[in-house]
Amino acid sequence: MSPRRADIVIIGGGIIGAAVAYELQAALKKKGLSRKVLLLEKTLTGQGCSYANAGWLTPCFAMPLPQPGMFWKSIGWLLDSKSPLYIHPEFNPTLFRWMFQFLLAMNETQMRKSIEVLTAISQYSLEAYREIATKRQTSSHDLGFEKKGLLMVSATKAGLDHARLEMQLMSERGIPGRFLAKEELLDFEPALRPIVQGGVYFPEEAQIEPYQAVLGILREFEALGGEVSQQTEVFDFESQNGRIAKLHTTQGTVEVEDVVLATGAWSKDITRKLGLSLPVLGGKGYSMHIEMTEHKPRHPIMIVERKIAVTPRADGTHGNSVRIAGTLELVDQDYAISPTRVRAIYDGAREYLKFDSKTESVGPRDLWRGLRPCTPDGVPIIGASKKFSNLHYCLGHQLLGLQSAPGSGRLLTEIFLGETPFTDPHPFRADRFE
Ligand SMILES: Cc1cc2nc3c(=O)[nH]c(=O)nc-3n(C[C@H](O)[C@H](O)[C@H](O)COP(=O)(O)OP(=O)(O)OC[C@H]3O[C@@H](n4cnc5c(N)ncnc54)[C@H](O)[C@@H]3O)c2cc1C
Repeated sequence: MSPRRADIVIIGGGIIGAAVAYELQAALKKKGLSRKVLLLEKTLTGQGCSYANAGWLTPCFAMPLPQPGMFWKSIGWLLDSKSPLYIHPEFNPTLFRWMFQFLLAMNETQMRKSIEVLTAISQYSLEAYREIATKRQTSSHDLGFEKKGLLMVSATKAGLDHARLEMQLMSERGIPGRFLAKEELLDFEPALRPIVQGGVYFPEEAQIEPYQAVLGILREFEALGGEVSQQTEVFDFESQNGRIAKLHTTQGTVEVEDVVLATGAWSKDITRKLGLSLPVLGGKGYSMHIEMTEHKPRHPIMIVERKIAVTPRADGTHGNSVRIAGTLELVDQDYAISPTRVRAIYDGAREYLKFDSKTESVGPRDLWRGLRPCTPDGVPIIGASKKFSNLHYCLGHQLLGLQSAPGSGRLLTEIFLGETPFTDPHPFRADRFE
């Protein structure tokens, strides 16, 4: 039997692979180019980090992980297993190299440039989700898209200063926000406890059910003629003259013309098979659902000092369910559940929100953890490889993969087709790590 063949293979069926597949297939169709696009997923699509994240589509949070002034804080995180960001102290050369590059990226100039490009792809993505969600509303497949804005709240002066700074940085990018003093905030969001001292409300932000978003985008991709192959793991590559010629998968060999890697937190390991090693580590985070009958929040809420994301899920489909998510623990493929960190999220949410007695008696359900694919400079890698002429990357989306997926897919598509990119591609280039 002759090997399977595809013109373009996308490896990885999370939100990023799905968005790349859809944007690429749509652009090819628009140009009248008939090329077979195949997406390979080693388990089931959408069940990696894209499964149960907070679901926020919030361009106001288009910030890279490394930020100026974080140096001493990050040293503190090494020592505190309950801190919102945690790095387990151990001698691991990969972790050490990553941390070194992370510390170098903590400068004002780099942060401002990163915010500019991350905001651009997040703003495009918000509109793209709105369009897809509207299309799919008419089918039985609702994506739970809602525009409820986003509330940043804090109980400390430092937290409020941070929220104000974010509001100022975002207003420079055309994203409106408004400051709410304590009394106004408690009226606006009655689910909050009086511990909060104030907050900032960003009215234009939205939310979506993350797993439904992956499935919805993939259905659009398939409707355009694309193909998805589940439970197909790529475990090796064959190259000739600086090109990848074949992929060895658990479902046989695939001959390829072009390859796009969208392998999230697995990217470091898979690029090793190509003699490369991209510094992408996992930023482990958790989410869980709680029931809130009397005090379901009206808006998604970010508890600034705890870095906890609270998302009231769509009323029609998910009743009184609220998703709480948080923590970032830098790991190398470690999925172990830390009871201390799970407890810190639950207790942190309870400190700021009015839990009713049912919430307490039922407790949290659907505990989930995912590894955010984190590059040391907090900017994804989107673009062509220097080492292989037919390899492209779209990976390393850290805390922003859901909200920036369609924009990342569009940027990759424009680079791939040699068109003028809609935003500056330079900060995303692969050769900063290759
Ligand atoms: C608690 C938490 C909350 C979050 N909240 C938000 C939020 O509100 N908004 C937001 O924008 N982002 C959020 N994120 C971040 C977001 O979830 C990620 O950035 C995003 O899911 C990354 O998508 P991905 O497609 O790159 O990775 P994944 O979804 O992990 O997909 C990668 C896929 O590649 C597949 N794969 C890997 N290797 C191979 C191989 N060799 N062969 C075939 N397939 C392979 C994997 O099986 C996987 O399905 C959150 C993350 C966490 C953990």
